Amino acid sequence: MRISIPKDHPRAESLRVREMLVDGLRGGLVVEEGLIAHGRGESFDYLIGETTTPSAIRAIKAAAAMLLTSSHPIISVNGNFAALCGKEIAELSMACGALIEVNLFYHSIHRERAIKSHLERFGARDVLGVGKNRTATIPYLNGERKHVDPMGIAVADTVFVPLEDGDRTEALVKMGKKVIAVDLNPLSRTAVHAHISIVDNVVRVIPILVQMILELKSENRDSLTSIIGKFDNIMNLNESLGLIRLGGSEINAIT
Ligand code: ATP
Ligand code: MG
Repeated sequence: MRISIPKDHPRAESLRVREMLVDGLRGGLVVEEGLIAHGRGESFDYLIGETTTPSAIRAIKAAAAMLLTSSHPIISVNGNFAALCGKEIAELSMACGALIEVNLFYHSIHRERAIKSHLERFGARDVLGVGKNRTATIPYLNGERKHVDPMGIAVADTVFVPLEDGDRTEALVKMGKKVIAVDLNPLSRTAVHAHISIVDNVVRVIPILVQMILELKSENRDSLTSIIGKFDNIMNLNESLGLIRLGGSEINAIT
């Protein structure tokens, strides 16, 4: 980190998150375009009041239940997600038994390897999708992201895809996979096409998701299935949109 961010700065947390991405850029995890994608996220975060809303909590609970009832869940990791949540990705994988797979739009072998080592530093094991292992293909998709690990996304029943592109989400859904997204933009194609979309900042989501998984672990399959069945993604997205229309946080007169 280049500067010490004053604790009482009104945007201290947001600045701290930016610095994590800039560190990620310098460390070879993040590409320049990733900083711009983050900016799009930040604008929606501002609009929802930079907080985890009740509808996000409901989506996180449904996501926890879906991960726990899946037989082969995978966490798909790109550069921004790795830079923002390295330790939490390892914890999530441990909590729900999901494997981790690197998948990059701006693909390079150096970046793949840098992300893998970064995650391993936090205790992640068997990070898939690196090097020669991307021999399976996602149909309905062009570009580097279609190459996946035959032990990972190719055979997964559920794919957890934070900060994802809409076309890849659609392709995974067409393949018959359950897709859980984290996306601050409730209007994105990702949010609309995923089965469960968590409209919240990924840095706030993952620790809550891990906690929720640990709490729900002792529940039986029927009660987990019922949590998933009660969740309606479009209704949930409309709640987030409603919040944005109202103004996530009220504007108070400055006196
Ligand atoms: P789509 O392809 O789904 O229509 P898009 O093209 O607008 O979306 P992309 O650039 O493909 O967006 O992906 C970035 C998405 O990730 C954006 O929707 C952005 O709001 C979201 N995003 C960025 N940073 C974060 C973050 N920290 N937490 C959650 N969501 C984020
Ligand atoms: Mg996109």
